[in-house]
Amino acid sequence: MIDEERGDMVLPQRRSNFMSRLKVGIMGGTFDPIHFGHLVIAEEAYISLNLSEVIFVPTGNPPHKNNKMITSAEDRYIMTCMAIVDNPHFKISKIEIERGGPSHTIDTLREMRHWYLPREVEFFFITGIDAVLQMPLWKEPYEIARVAHIVAASRPGYNVSQLESLPEEIKRAVIPLEIPLLAISSTEIRRRVAAGQSIRYFLPWTVEHFIYKRNLYSLEGR
Ligand code: ATP
Repeated sequence: MIDEERGDMVLPQRRSNFMSRLKVGIMGGTFDPIHFGHLVIAEEAYISLNLSEVIFVPTGNPPHKNNKMITSAEDRYIMTCMAIVDNPHFKISKIEIERGGPSHTIDTLREMRHWYLPREVEFFFITGIDAVLQMPLWKEPYEIARVAHIVAASRPGYNVSQLESLPEEIKRAVIPLEIPLLAISSTEIRRRVAAGQSIRYFLPWTVEHFIYKRNLYSLEGR
């Protein structure tokens, strides 16, 4: 189903009371490619924080990454759609892809707030501890922390105590989320494909097949 206003593929939304406050999860990422690490943190946040929905937001041109290595936004969007299609409370938005230029979370949060008016919405920006630790370098980090909760999911190599080093303005918005640790990263998946190694069970099989069909990440494909 296509959401007319957002121009995105969306999945049927649960109808809820008009007056109730929406709790919306936003799962930002490069998703190059999306993998089970992303899906597990989104699902755990949805359940443990009692969210209404989780919107996956693939970045356009990520300001914090080496852009030469980024797969086209269209392919990353398709892979993300494939990964979430069987989950009725996961949605996807092209907001950062269509905005063009570097993607900044604060711009996305400001724009998204308008989608829900006149309803009140509480945003939960879901990400890994590694990303939260980088947040002071992002555009308007204190403003992000003012308009959204920041859900910091555990990730191998990082622990909750590291969050103590964050400025108070960010720290007070952080909600630590303990999840079963999965040592999967997009970098490792890309490395494995380039080395001809298996990526089975790292990500949904539909996404795995798409990667091979489009010859993504292979040395010849670059
Ligand atoms: P890359 O390896 O290319 O840097 P990534 O696997 O970290 O990519 P991103 O698309 O950058 O994937 O991820 C979006 C967010 O998801 C990141 O902020 C990261 O913290 C979180 N994340 C990714 N993989 C995991 C994982 N296995 N466990 C917990 N969090 C994760």
